Amino acid sequence: MAQSSLLKSVIDQNYPVVAYGKGVFLYDIDGNKYLDGSSGAMTASIGHGVEEVAQAMKVQAERIAFSYRAQFTNQPAEDLARELAALAPDHISWVYFVNSGSEASEFAIRAALGYWRDRGLPEKTKVLGRHTSYHGMTMGALSMSGHPARRPDYGPLLHAFPVAPPVHSYRYARPGESELEYAERAAADFEQAIRAEDPQTVAAMIVEPIVGAAGGVLVPPVGYLQKLREVCDRLNVLLIVDEVITGMGRTGDWFACEHEGVVPDMLLVGKGLSGGYAPVGAVLMHEHLIETMRAHSGIAPFGHTFSANPLSMATCLAVLRLLQRERVLDNVRQRGAQLARGLRSLAERYHFVDDVRGRGLLWGFEFVTDRQKRETPDPEQQISSAFVDVCFREGLLVYPAGIAPFNNAAIISPPLRITECEIEILLEKLDLALAHMSGCFSTRGAK
Ligand code: PMP
Repeated sequence: MAQSSLLKSVIDQNYPVVAYGKGVFLYDIDGNKYLDGSSGAMTASIGHGVEEVAQAMKVQAERIAFSYRAQFTNQPAEDLARELAALAPDHISWVYFVNSGSEASEFAIRAALGYWRDRGLPEKTKVLGRHTSYHGMTMGALSMSGHPARRPDYGPLLHAFPVAPPVHSYRYARPGESELEYAERAAADFEQAIRAEDPQTVAAMIVEPIVGAAGGVLVPPVGYLQKLREVCDRLNVLLIVDEVITGMGRTGDWFACEHEGVVPDMLLVGKGLSGGYAPVGAVLMHEHLIETMRAHSGIAPFGHTFSANPLSMATCLAVLRLLQRERVLDNVRQRGAQLARGLRSLAERYHFVDDVRGRGLLWGFEFVTDRQKRETPDPEQQISSAFVDVCFREGLLVYPAGIAPFNNAAIISPPLRITECEIEILLEKLDLALAHMSGCFSTRGAK
């Protein structure tokens, strides 16, 4: 298999060299074909090689690719901001563009601190996340992330932000506890974490409405996000929802927080915003933040050279228009239901697959050695990574997930325009991969 000499010299991985992509398929330079069952990292929302997006990029690049954000705005940026605000929950009417999900997290921290400073509360400086969550690899984003595996090397550089306990129904809901009871208990845990820090020092909390890579698609109990909104209002803390994975239609709504009718103070998007056609993220902001900041310090807590650059903006606009014109969210709901049915029927046949969970086209499940006891494979076994490798050999790309001791999950999250027939192909490949995995599990604990 041909390999990239550059990557080999930097990263000790035998990645194939990608040649091109079309729809839900990627091809490497040796002619191998892969079904993109995870949209890369839950990113390639409209699929690969979409001609009209490439065309929009060409037109914009020829017109003007770059202009500096502190000298010009540009029409694609203005149009995109307006359209995002129209799709977002009520009163989320301002958008600040960045270049990645991590930058969106960083910007949210700076904006939260700036807001409280403008309100005369400069001591509110902490942003609390949750265990089993991820908000990016830059230092501020990582400081809010409850992802121990990614943190230890950078300890001294991270902010001392504590994290609230994880929310993981399969692992931590108590026997006999209703969804609502678990939602209340989990929100109370977050409240407790804030009170333990002293709410006067806490600027914001940040949560993924559905946890992605860190947990393997953890859907919180119904009502949880609403309860968090109440906690924030009670303690005078901002609510930041990180929709870098869940946003832009992935769960069947434009934004996952709509599912509970919750209006956050800031909403972060990335990945699917450009569908992978450009490195872009954005922070969608509630108007009350902007009004306060405008009345005091002025709005922008600084940005980046490439913030809102015309080429990225035109790209995102073309992606968004395609999603709207083709009514792709309808497809997400229909194909999501089909995928869920298929995954559940696989879980019935493979005793080591459990807790199929998700929404729209964002699904995960756990590998267990014993279903009754919900026992996990030995974390050292790195079962998720082994599964990714087995799928890869079947020409299927999936995403490994979870944090030790629960690093035993996988994510299935194909492009949002996937067809009925392609979902069937995906399920067939999964079936073959799971059959190969059987060797790693005994029949002990089968239902
Ligand atoms: N937030 C979430 C929920 C993510 O999943 C990620 C990336 N996986 C990020 C933020 C960071 O985004 P990026 O990798 O684009 O910096």
